[in-house]
Order: sequence, then C-alpha cells, then structure tokens
Amino acid sequence: MELKLFNSLTRKKQALKPINNTVNFYFCGPTVYWYQHIGNMRAFYVMDMVRRTVKYLGYNINQVMNITDVGHMTSDADEGEDKMEVASKREHKTPEEIAKFYWGICFNDMQALNVETPEHICPATSVINDIIAFVQDILDNGYGYITENGVYYDTSKCPNYGALGGMNQNEKQFGARIKVDEFKRNPADFVLWVKAKDNHIQRWNSPWGVGYPGWHIECSAIGNKFLGEHIDIHGGGVEHKTVHHENEIAQNYAKCGHQVVDIWFHLEHLMFNGGKMSKSTGGIYTLSNLKEKGYSPMDLRMFYLSAHYSKPQNFTFEALNNAKESYSNLKKLLLKHKNGTSKIETSKLNWLKTKFTEYLADDINTPLALSVVWDALKNYPDSVDIYNLMLDFDHVLGLKLAEVKEETKQIPSEIIALAEERKLARINKDYKQSDILRDKIASLGYTILDKPKNEYEIK
Ligand code: AMP
Ligand code: ZN
Repeated sequence: MELKLFNSLTRKKQALKPINNTVNFYFCGPTVYWYQHIGNMRAFYVMDMVRRTVKYLGYNINQVMNITDVGHMTSDADEGEDKMEVASKREHKTPEEIAKFYWGICFNDMQALNVETPEHICPATSVINDIIAFVQDILDNGYGYITENGVYYDTSKCPNYGALGGMNQNEKQFGARIKVDEFKRNPADFVLWVKAKDNHIQRWNSPWGVGYPGWHIECSAIGNKFLGEHIDIHGGGVEHKTVHHENEIAQNYAKCGHQVVDIWFHLEHLMFNGGKMSKSTGGIYTLSNLKEKGYSPMDLRMFYLSAHYSKPQNFTFEALNNAKESYSNLKKLLLKHKNGTSKIETSKLNWLKTKFTEYLADDINTPLALSVVWDALKNYPDSVDIYNLMLDFDHVLGLKLAEVKEETKQIPSEIIALAEERKLARINKDYKQSDILRDKIASLGYTILDKPKNEYEIK
C-alpha cells in the first residue's frame, strides 16, 4: 500500500514515490545545549512513526538525523548568540562537553521511548569540510555574497523564496521579524558562514576567514552528504517551516538547481498551559521528570499515539493518566488473548490488518489505527490469533507488546514457610495439621493448590 503524507509546500496529501523502493528520510534533530523536553520528544516519536510506517508498508528506509552542536542562534533567524556558546559559559564546560552530555541524555530518552535509531546520526561539527564545500558551491553558482560578517545567501536570487512558510512580499522585503543587518542585501538574506569574534570558542578555518557555520546550512550539507540530491521526506517541527526549512530549500536550489525534497513534513507542537512547550518560555517536563512521578516511557508513547501528528497536542496530567490507564488495559486484554483458545477466521484477521494499514497509509492516522487495536482486543473472542496480530501491529506502534508478561505475585517468605510446614505435615499424613495450615495461608490472602507427590502451587 502506498504512503500518503501531507506536504506542507503544496498543502496537499501526496503519495510517496521513492526511487528503488528506498525512502530517503531526513529529520531535523536536537540542538544539544540543554535537556530535551517531552515536546522535543514528541518530535522524535513522530519521526519514529514515519520510519516505522514506511517500513511496515514494505519500503526500505535510509534515515538521517543531524545533531546541532554549532551555529543555532538563540533566535532561529540568526539573531543573538550561539546556543552552544551560551551553555558553555553557563556550565563552565567546553561546547564539546556540553554536546556530549546533553546528546547522551537525549539518546537514552529516545531509546526509552522505543525510537528506532536512524541509519545515520550526524553532528554538524563532524562535517565542517562538507559544509564549507556546500557554501563554496552556493557562492560559485552566484547565490551568495561575502560581507564583513561572513557569507550570506542572496534570497532575491531564489525563485519562490518564502513559498513554504507562506511569507509574503512585505515580509521578504522588510524582514518584519528581524533587525535588519546593515551588511545584508535583502532583509530575508541569511548567514551561511559567520566570521568568529575573538572570544568565540567554536571556530574553524575557511576560505572566508576563521568562523563557524550558520544553522540552516548544516542540514542541507548533511542531507546532501548522506542522501544526495533526492530526499523523499524532510521533517521537523512546524516552527521550521518559516525560516529553517525555507532556507534549506533555497540552499539546495542554489547548489543543485532543482527541488531536492519531495515532501516537506511538519508536526504540530506539544502544548502546555496555552502555549508551545518550550525551553525558552519555561514550563517543561522531561522524560525523567515523568518517570519520577510514576509514568513509564510507554505511558507517554501511548499518550502521543492518541493524537494526530498534524494537530497540536495539549499536555495535561489528566490526559497522561488516561493514557497510562489505556496502556494498562491494553496489556490486560493482550494477555487474555495470549492465553485464548478461539480461532479467528483468516478473512477477519485480514480485514483488521487492512484497516490498520489503511489508516496509517493515510497520513499516519494513529488515533484511527488505535481504534482498530481496541476493536480487535475487545470485540473478538480470546484468541492467540489476535495476540499475534497485535505483535504485528506493534512493529509500528512501538509499545513493546512482546515484552508484556503476566505480573507474577511476589510470594512473601512467611507464606512459603507455612506452605513448606504444610508439605511436611502431608508427608507425615497429619491431615488435620495440614488443613489448619491451609486455612491460615488462606486467611493471609493466598491459595494453595496441591499437586502430585506433595508438591504445591501458591496463588
Ligand atoms: P531543538 O532541540 O530546539 O532544535 O528541537 C528539536 C526538535 O523538537 C525539532 O524538530 C523541533 O521542531 C521540535 N520541537 C521543539 N519544541 C517542540 C514542541 N513543543 N512540540 C513538538 N516538537 C517540538
Ligand atoms: Zn534542520
């Protein structure tokens, strides 16, 4: 079945048309200057759902995620200070130490959320030469210019600049959001390479002096290095539409002379207290914060699954509690089916699988896919066929269903001692004492089941 995704550029659902059945997928990864919160984690969960759906529908995948460890300014539009430099000063560590520490935590959280590891994970600082070569190509092709501050992209040269974010002529002309840099030819022009000030820590030699790359160029250079000139899906949070991804389109066009990305894919934000959950505005939770409060990563994944990626999702503890309860119910029903003996007709199983697949193939509609899960679990007789179907669905859901086991009651040592005493009484044919001990065990909430040769089971 072919996968259709909403393309933010054409504003239509579009079928994926990968070359040789392999989907080239790029997703904008974390800026590793601080903890990633559960808003960021929604982005990585969505990234994972794209990957898992692509694979479930029978395509191969080649996925790249960058790690931004240089060049991301405190404003996405290149204003302010580099976030890595800010963190470095705040924590009295080198930018490398900062990146290693926060990336480590981010990676662990992704693993805990059962996010599959992309084929390529690439820190920007590991490809500075590729970035420099990309900037050089942009200059050679006539789309860039050099100023006292660094190298800039000339947006007036790029046809349709602003089409993705819906930027109008006025915004392009006057750069409404940003202070106009005196060295820029056009207000919307953006930096490709920044000349480093004397006290700037991260710095590399380049044909344009010592400096560091802008943020937008890293994604174009990394995408080009690993995926070439054809990327089937390029994704990220919705805030990237207006600046970051707009600029990527322009950079790719300057180097390659054509559109490199087929489908621009954006997820809406996780909201909290009426706004986007964000490090800069405060009011954030990390996965560790939730674990401390008694929620598992799979409770959070269940919460994410309940909303469509293209809609903002509101985070409340009430909603998280509901997801936790749903996950617990799902596990209980799953175990009933695991031990079930009914046989389900193949045509019915096929129908369930087709519905589940259709919903995912139609722009990854997880709420509808979950409705098939509940239908199968609740409305069919207990059957291992349904259990196996759920394990198949879990290739996409990622809820670790194969690991769900009956919870074994921990029998207290006091009960075991009484049971052993009773066993001895039975061996000695002292059935009166044996009955007394069984009643005592029952009064403590346990049942003893006798087995051949004086063995027993405690329930
Ligand atoms: P950053 O570390 O800020 O570069 O963000 C990493 C990823 O998380 C990007 O794809 C962002 O678009 C995404 N993101 C940031 N905040 C949120 C949020 N509140 N909800 C969903 N995604 C977010
Ligand atoms: Zn990016």
